[in-house]
Amino acid sequence: MKSLNYMEVSFKAQSVNEGFARLVVAGFCLPLKPNLDELGDIKTAVSEAVTNCVVHAYPNGNGLVWLSCEYFDDGLVKIVVKDEGVGIKDIAKAREPFFTTKPGEERSGMGFTVMSSFMDKLRVASSPGKGTKVVMIKQLS
Ligand code: ATP
Ligand code: MG
Repeated sequence: MKSLNYMEVSFKAQSVNEGFARLVVAGFCLPLKPNLDELGDIKTAVSEAVTNCVVHAYPNGNGLVWLSCEYFDDGLVKIVVKDEGVGIKDIAKAREPFFTTKPGEERSGMGFTVMSSFMDKLRVASSPGKGTKVVMIKQLS
């Protein structure tokens, strides 16, 4: 499996950048000719991951989100979304459907569940006080 292309970008953890992140990744993946379902899945998963950085990572103001995307000659796409925010204490718990630390704020606790069902693989690494890294893999047809 050979890497064909790679990009990275960083931006402020603000909700206005969620749409930007979706479009950047979608545009970057276009040469792979993803079908509409695949493109929709990727955009949704990226949205959820970036929204988590915006909503949860930086309670005391602004920080940055790092987004990268790489694709390979067999059609595999790897997306990494990273922040240097508060981190997650219990990752297994955070990944459970309907678990949220912000129940009062129209959060349903389904972000990680959506990411893992729309992508083929989801890996979450986090250190409290240091930040969170989400790696998502999708194999295009
Ligand atoms: P929803 O995504 O449905 O709006 P949610 O964001 O609470 O709700 P998940 O995306 O599944 O649900 O995340 C679960 C929990 O994991 C969050 O409530 C939050 O406590 C924690 N979490 C997720 N991403 C981060 C992050 N980047 N930094 C800190 N905590 C996070
Ligand atoms: Mg979420």
